[in-house]
Amino acid sequence: MLYKSTRNDKDYITSPEAVLKGIAPDGGLYMPRDLSAVKFDYTKTVGKTALQTAEYVMGAMFDDFSAEEIHNMVYAAYHGKFETDELTPTVPVGDNYVLELFRGPTSAFKDVALSMLPQLMTASRKKLNVSDETVILTATSGDTGKAALEGFHDVDGTKIIVFYPENGVSPIQKAQMVTQEGNNVCVCAVKGNFDDAQTGVKKIFKAVTDNGLLKGKGAELSSANSINIGRLVPQIVYYFTAYSSLVESKKINIGEKVNFVVPTGNFGDILAGYFAKCLGLPVNKLVCASNANDVLTEFINTGRYNRVREFYKTVSPSMDILVSSNLERLLYLMLDCDSTRVAEYMEKLEKHGEYTVDAKTLEKIRSVFYAASCDDENTEKTIGSVYDEYGYLCDTHTAVGWNVAEQFKKATKTDCPVIVLSTASPYKFSHAVGTAIGIEDTADEFRLMSEINAKTGVAIPKRLAELKGKKAIHNDVTEKEKMLDFVLGKIGEKQWNR
Ligand SMILES: *Cc1c(COP(=O)(O)O)cnc(C)c1O
Repeated sequence: MLYKSTRNDKDYITSPEAVLKGIAPDGGLYMPRDLSAVKFDYTKTVGKTALQTAEYVMGAMFDDFSAEEIHNMVYAAYHGKFETDELTPTVPVGDNYVLELFRGPTSAFKDVALSMLPQLMTASRKKLNVSDETVILTATSGDTGKAALEGFHDVDGTKIIVFYPENGVSPIQKAQMVTQEGNNVCVCAVKGNFDDAQTGVKKIFKAVTDNGLLKGKGAELSSANSINIGRLVPQIVYYFTAYSSLVESKKINIGEKVNFVVPTGNFGDILAGYFAKCLGLPVNKLVCASNANDVLTEFINTGRYNRVREFYKTVSPSMDILVSSNLERLLYLMLDCDSTRVAEYMEKLEKHGEYTVDAKTLEKIRSVFYAASCDDENTEKTIGSVYDEYGYLCDTHTAVGWNVAEQFKKATKTDCPVIVLSTASPYKFSHAVGTAIGIEDTADEFRLMSEINAKTGVAIPKRLAELKGKKAIHNDVTEKEKMLDFVLGKIGEKQWNR
């Protein structure tokens, strides 16, 4: 199956090319040429292991790779790397289910995709005989950065530069990144918020393509953000494993519909759910949960996307996003793959900071999606009440999802089971989580973690505990306007050893 940009109908490329390019030269995002042509039978995922389901989904979406290549990639990405063989277990909590996506090496849901992406890139480089180095540029709201560093450190033929908002990530997230070892890694703070970092990265791609800035330098850029189709596809898998685990435990009969509630920022996670639905999974509603930065809630409820609004720093920082990149892919599908109209909307967004979709498109979106938001006060209340009532400790992002799930159930009286996606370990956000369950706040992260552990009995992920006492080795800081210079300078440096 070929892939194409959301913004034109001229250029078709193979999946390895799409993975290596990351973003299309016209600024659009790569999409399968025809998602409805993908051959997939979800009933076959029942009874499969997580790794087998991953092979099935990846093989269907990336059919340029042989079954053997896919098998090897899946095995190398996941075998023995997660806390459980299920990779992403689904557990009952009260009347809902929680799909735990944070059991990977960095305790964030980003691990599911970022364990796979280096495998995909390495296989794609081989397939296309790429000799230039692949330099991964990544903007992070906290979790992508560490998960990408973990995936790419010391991977031959690649280098990785991570930009994070200087004051926009949790202390543990920062510690995870600035202590990263490896001979091909670079971590740099940006004076600005996540949107500044993400916009900066997109601008670097454009400047490099338009002006041939890397010609003769032996390097090509790629992206580990969810604009890369190689990030999105591995995330489709857990929608199927969650569904089949409910079938296997006889909570539902095969064919019955379920709801998924997704704490959303860049719209990658929930979009993967929509892809799963397009591949045949019986989904009632995909529920988009936002924090106080509720730009997506407004969009799904009114059809108007307006990024010109106050930016709030919340206790769920991975969702502090006003320009939600992957929404472009949903628009493309909802506009029946009309790339001219997508390009028009995206131009409006860039020039005027907003666009409004027509009533028919909005209705189509609302037939699949539901949206609501939850502010910090209610996030903390939710962590406390879910813990008190069910003894389940969730992180701030998951709490936003849980709160919105309850709003959704009240508003729609849905009969279908509700699966809340849990996107991070509570120990990555110890301040808010500790406060919510009545632990006195302290600046000492590690003391907080052990107090939460003493009170709840929830195990501290080993790798987070090990951060204690590790030295920061990345201290670079850049103005947001200087990100391009920083990257060009870094690419010019021979030795990156740390
Ligand atoms: C990235 C992230 C999200 C948001 O996911 P998107 O795919 O960007 O919508 C939610 N929670 C956590 C903990 C994250 O790291």
